[in-house]
This record gives sequence, structure tokens and C-alpha cells, in this order.
Amino acid sequence: APREASAYVRSLVRTVPDWPEPGVQFRDITPVFQNPRGLRTLVDVLVDRYFDAKLDAVVGLDARGFMIGPIVAYELNIGFVPVRKIGKLPWKTISESYDLEYGSATVEVHADACNAGDRVVLIDDLIATGGTMLAGMHLLERLGAKVIEAAALIDLPDLGGSARLRAAGLPVFSICEFA
Ligand code: AMP
Repeated sequence: APREASAYVRSLVRTVPDWPEPGVQFRDITPVFQNPRGLRTLVDVLVDRYFDAKLDAVVGLDARGFMIGPIVAYELNIGFVPVRKIGKLPWKTISESYDLEYGSATVEVHADACNAGDRVVLIDDLIATGGTMLAGMHLLERLGAKVIEAAALIDLPDLGGSARLRAAGLPVFSICEFA
């Protein structure tokens, strides 16, 4: 991302220590969205990045990917596809489960959410272990889509998620990082 845009968005992220549990530094993006220039900056960075990418859809990950993805899709004149946590989508779905620190999580997408050969980008607020993005990539690949990139407002490189995604063949783009 352009250096100024990246630094500006980063400056608006609020860090909440020990939430939702001790030891976690929660990176809260709501102040970025509350700020008109912050919101415009983050959307413009993503729209500029994908303007010529010939995408067919933006895929947003539950739940904060739903705040970002549709704005970008609207500006690119393409559709939006939600990847949801288990049990929320009403029609036929395919699902992927992945391991969390404690237990596991499952995400789903509608079986007709895209066409084989569609070019898509995955969007979420933050990449930590990369498990959520990786599950999203697997879902979309099972539908026959070509996942061009995983995009996030924030990468936490020390947690290794972005490296894990790149090792799996998925390019990663983030607007800013927190060590
Ligand atoms: P992961 O699958 O480990 O990459 O985790 C990414 C998902 O968990 C994203 O949907 C984030 O919203 C959320 N998440 C994980 N760690 C944090 C954090 N430190 N601050 C805010 N959200 C987080």
C-alpha cells in the first residue's frame, strides 16, 4: 500500500490489550471505519490494487470481511460473496474446518456462490495464523474459482499466517502490519 495511506490507516487502529482473553492484543478496526478519511483511504487502497485485476467477485470472510468487501466490490462493479461461520447460510453449502488454538472452527459458502474459472480476492480485517483465509481459499478452490490474493487491513507477521498462505501458493496483501 502507498506509505502514507498505510501509516494513516495504521494510526487509526485501536489496540485493546487482553481482549477477548488475557495475552491477546486485539486490533480494533472500528475507529478506521468511523473516520471518513480512514474509511475512504482503506477502500481506495483496495480498489486501486484490484482495479485492473479482472476480478469476478470479492469474497468477504465472516464477520469483519463483510464490512470491507462489499464496498470494494461495489466500486469494482462486481459481486460480493460471503464466507460464513457454520449454520448461517440457508441453501446448499460446502464447508471447511480448521484448527484453532483450542478446538476448531468451520466456515461455509453457498454451493452456487461463484462459477468455475471466476477470479476472486479474499478479504478480511486481519491475518493472524492464516487459518481463516486458508479455509476460505480451499472453499473457493473447491467451487473452481481462481483465488488471486488474500487481502487484509492488518497482518500480524509474527504469527506466521501470511508466510503460511504464501507457502500455500496464495499471494497476500495487507495495508499495514503490527509486530
Ligand atoms: P486467523 O485465522 O488466525 O488468521 O485469524 C484471523 C481472524 O481472527 C480474523 O477474522 C480476525 O478478525 C480475528 N483475529 C485474530 N486475531 C486477532 C487480533 N489480535 N485482533 C483482531 N482480530 C483478530
